[in-house]
This record gives sequence, C-alpha cells and structure tokens, in this order.
Amino acid sequence: MYMSEKSKQIVDACRFCWMCRHICPVGNATGQERNTSRARALSLSLVNRGAAELTADIMDNIYECQMCEACTCDCATGWDPTYFTKEVRLQAALDGKTPDYINAIVDKVLETGNIYGVKELDADLAAAIKAHAAKEDIILFLGAEARYNVPAAAVNAIKVLEAAGVKFTVLADEPASGYALDWLIGAADETKQQMADCAAVLAEYKTVVAFDPQDAKAFVREYKEYDLKIGALATFTAFVAGLIKDGKLAVKNTGKAVVFQDPYQLARMLEETEEPRAIVAACATLNEMLLNRKDTVWAGGSFMAIYNPLVSELVSKERWTNAKNVGADTIVTASVSEYAALKATAPEGMNVISIEELVLSAL
Ligand code: SF4
Ligand code: SF4
Repeated sequence: MYMSEKSKQIVDACRFCWMCRHICPVGNATGQERNTSRARALSLSLVNRGAAELTADIMDNIYECQMCEACTCDCATGWDPTYFTKEVRLQAALDGKTPDYINAIVDKVLETGNIYGVKELDADLAAAIKAHAAKEDIILFLGAEARYNVPAAAVNAIKVLEAAGVKFTVLADEPASGYALDWLIGAADETKQQMADCAAVLAEYKTVVAFDPQDAKAFVREYKEYDLKIGALATFTAFVAGLIKDGKLAVKNTGKAVVFQDPYQLARMLEETEEPRAIVAACATLNEMLLNRKDTVWAGGSFMAIYNPLVSELVSKERWTNAKNVGADTIVTASVSEYAALKATAPEGMNVISIEELVLSAL
C-alpha cells in the first residue's frame, strides 16, 4: 500500500504519551486498546515495513476512528494522527480494499447524496422548503443528515430563521456537500467532484448559513484546500447568535437548566464555542459538563451508527454519564447526528433537545 512520507513520519512518530488512550471516545467506550491512534499507527507501521499485510482487520480498525481529532489536540508528537487514517481510507479505495460495509454507504452517497440512501423528502420538510424556493441573498444549507435522518430538525431550523424575519432560500434539490465522501474515502476524485458541484450552486448566494457543523467544516477546510469558492459562510449557531444579539430574535430565558454538547466540528475544527453558548444562555440556564469546548467528546451517531451501531450506542451512553455526573438532566446539542444518537440512548428522566428546539421554546 502506498503511503506518503508525511504519513509514514506520523505513523512512526509516537512518543507513547498515552494521551490518545485517555481521550479517544471510541476507545473509552469499547475499552479496547486497538481503538487508539497509537495502536492504529503500530499496525500501519508493520504494513509499511513489509512485516504485515493490510488485512481486513486493519481496515476495520481504520474505520473504528470517528476522525473527531480529540487525539490531535493532545498528541505529544504535535502531528495529527487522523492524517494517516484519512490517507489510508483514500488509498484503500484506490486499491479496492475498502470494506464492503463502507462501499455500501459510498454507493448510497453517490446515488442519493446521503448516507441513508433515502430519495424522498419528508412531507412536512418538503412543504417548509417550498415556502423558501424564491432566490434570496442568503441560502440556508440544511445538509443531508437533517434532510434525510432528522427532518424535524431541518423544519425547526427554517422556523427559527422565519421567526427572525430573515429572507432566505432553501433548495428542494440541495446538492450533497461532499463531507460524507470525504469522511468515507478521503480526497478521492468522487469527493472533489461532489464538492465542486455543490460549490458551483452555493457560489450563487452572498451568504451561506450551514445548519450542520459537518457541512460547515467541509466548507471551511476541504473547500479551501480544493480552492472551491462559495459565498460568505456562517454556521447556523453563529448566525442565530447574531440574530439574538441584534434583537431580531426576541427570546426569553425559559429557566430550564441544561448543559451544552459541543459538536467537535464546531469546537475543535472551526474554533466556535461561544456563539452556541450565547444562544443557550439567552434561552436557558447554562451549566457545563466536564470535557467541554475544544476538549469535547463525540456523542455518537452518523456513519458509525450505521455500520457499528453498538460502538455508537456505547459512545452516546458515555456522554450521558458525563451529563449525569454534573447533575444535568438535559443536554442541548447543535449537531444533527449527535442529537439522533443521544435521543436514541437517553436514560429515563433525561432529555436531549436541539439548539433550534430550545430557541423556538424560548420565543
Ligand atoms: S480521531 Fe477521535 S476517534 Fe479517532 S483515534 Fe483520535 S480520538 Fe479516537
Ligand atoms: S497521543 Fe500521540 S504520541 Fe501519545 S500515545 Fe497517542 S499517538 Fe502516541
């Protein structure tokens, strides 16, 4: 298997600090050493030296990483351990070594633009989108996760902007952002093409409001890497925080005590931690879990909920334990996929609400 010199350097740079063992949400949930970036690097180092084959087991291990970059923040090498993981995903795709369960999801994304293979929009969402078919300067990019997995979240996002009197477009045939292919097979031609097609559509608007942090991260990082231009980008949370600050959304504090689950894409990759907190603090009493802001822990969902549902469930349950440990019974999240995962695993007497639901309840 081909591996770039940079990846080889990262694979062999481990200084055995064990930070990745302490902070990996997958490793902590499964209790398995193999889920650390150190273990992943060790097996790839053996492959690079010709001492081992790139077996199906090693490929499974490559897809046991959520790419959340918690280890990147604390790795003693100063390198990013997800760099080689992403490169191996690409190389495996080129060499025909991608696991079948990943190829099945890739096929769905190529055919339908979403990881679930859903072709039809939910009726309520279709009606909500239809009311915003006219071309405006602002486009609300809902993203595939909300459109096809949690359509109520997409409807509520639309309602929040409507409540503020914002004029905006939502596309009935919104293109895939490419984030899913990027996660699944890295910088393959198919990923770049999907991103280029999406950028061509979004370039028609002055401002792009990205509802899902997964898409926002792709717009900022990968689109920049591939020199794809779109209108000015705002995350949904930064945009809504601005509406509240400017008095366009008149929310009242509901008095509800909550903790906020930082999506890792927002907190670590886009360095946005205070805007969602401004929204939550305006609508409720905000408390904090341990491991918040850039130290946040992934709370499950998305790809792994499809092909490794037990791991996703265990990860979500760990985050519920974190909430319980600070006496919280309600988690607010700004991630569509984490919302779905937390909802499916909520212990009795505990609730998850999305940030758009919280805003609507405070109007
Ligand atoms: S990126 Fe996240 S899931 Fe992957 S090894 Fe690092 S901490 Fe674990
Ligand atoms: S955090 Fe980095 S240096 Fe530390 S054990 Fe993990 S891979 Fe090695």
